[in-house]
Amino acid sequence: MTEPLVYLDGEYVPKSKAVVSVFDHGFLYGDGIFEGIRCYSGNVFRLKEHIKRLYESAKSILLEIPLSPQEMEDAVVETLRKNGYANAYIRLVVSRGMGDLGLDPRSCVKPCVIIIAEQLKLFPQEFYEKGLSIVTVATRRNVPDALNPKIKSLNYLNNVLVKLEAQRAGVMEALMLNHEGYVCEGSGDNVFLVKDGKVMTPPTYLGALEGITRNAIIDICNRLGIPCEEKVFTRHDVYVADEVFLTGTAAELIPVIDVDSRVIGEGKPGPMTEMLIKEFRKITVQEGTKIPELVSKAV
Ligand code: PMP
Repeated sequence: MTEPLVYLDGEYVPKSKAVVSVFDHGFLYGDGIFEGIRCYSGNVFRLKEHIKRLYESAKSILLEIPLSPQEMEDAVVETLRKNGYANAYIRLVVSRGMGDLGLDPRSCVKPCVIIIAEQLKLFPQEFYEKGLSIVTVATRRNVPDALNPKIKSLNYLNNVLVKLEAQRAGVMEALMLNHEGYVCEGSGDNVFLVKDGKVMTPPTYLGALEGITRNAIIDICNRLGIPCEEKVFTRHDVYVADEVFLTGTAAELIPVIDVDSRVIGEGKPGPMTEMLIKEFRKITVQEGTKIPELVSKAV
């Protein structure tokens, strides 16, 4: 079997040879940014939005990406094409690059650009059919004044700690509160509540990432005339919600049926969540950058 190809600084190299220096500041300091993107049947879902978020993260950390946004888009498409993946998860990473052991980013001559495409490993169907039990963990979200969570940086220790706490509590995912105790997001996903027919998600200024999936759900609600708003809410509001769900590129929409041992609604995925899952799945193959030869391969 031929090895998957990874884009590494302008070249497509076999996976086993796709290595970066131990002096890369992405490795030494988490100094870099990334994106997680998905390709559905040859359509790269909202690729332009992902690229925009990547360049905004780069601007915020004063990192000059050595490719234009269009060149970056083309490189993502080419990575998929070279691997022949119609359904894939794509990880795009830009680090400050190789430098000295010292913190000074001026020692890093050139940012390192990596695009990894992997054949999609779907989450178990059971998650969508039965829903997840989750908990709230003690680890709080990074304070936006310190490291703004809107920057999708390589510094994900905050999120890793949440995942570890969730695992120790015997669940797959957990909610993080912000420094003021308001519900913020999951370790790698945004959170939504449904109450009395209204859909709600915390505003990003609380410290949540502006998720591409989150925005897609807001767009769907607006199109279908479902009331949807950004709202500050507490754990209590989550416990008494009719429905709760999580959103993310890898997860899509996952219903939540139990939070901190409080059963949500009827303890099964609710009608709004199920409808939004269907609507979201419809747009995944409609919206995005089409790769014609992969689209035809998928059908
Ligand atoms: N929050 C965090 C912390 C994330 O890492 C992610 C992405 N995995 C999300 C939310 C969801 O964002 P998106 O819908 O763009 O994948």
